[in-house]
Amino acid sequence: MHIRKDDQVEVIAGDDKGTPSSRRIAKVLRAIPSKNKVVVQGVNRVYKHMKPSQKNPQGGRLSKEMPVDVSNVMLFCPKCNRGVRQGARFTAEGRKERYCKKCGQGLGTLGPKKPAHAEAAKAAPR
Ligand SMILES: [Zn+2]
Repeated sequence: MHIRKDDQVEVIAGDDKGTPSSRRIAKVLRAIPSKNKVVVQGVNRVYKHMKPSQKNPQGGRLSKEMPVDVSNVMLFCPKCNRGVRQGARFTAEGRKERYCKKCGQGLGTLGPKKPAHAEAAKAAPR
């Protein structure tokens, strides 16, 4: 899946999507790759009605984000100031990196360094 926990994303579809004048940028709280879903802060929030219990003696309404389909969000690029399509490449030290396909901005590295990939990155023009 192309979105991970703690990513900043723009919500582009669904009930909580933003508009061009009011973009909806939020943090991913949880990624669920097996279901292709993500839980995004403040998005798809539902109220759960709770009976009073030991843990929650007052009972009442509990607000909770529910998972949304990962296709409803795009990775946020700070340089473009919007959700963008992302690509993957290797950095000079051989670490996998996601980048913005629009402006080329790096959007964070993933995983360990791999020297073999460093060689490939040097050989390939950026
Ligand atoms: Zn960008």
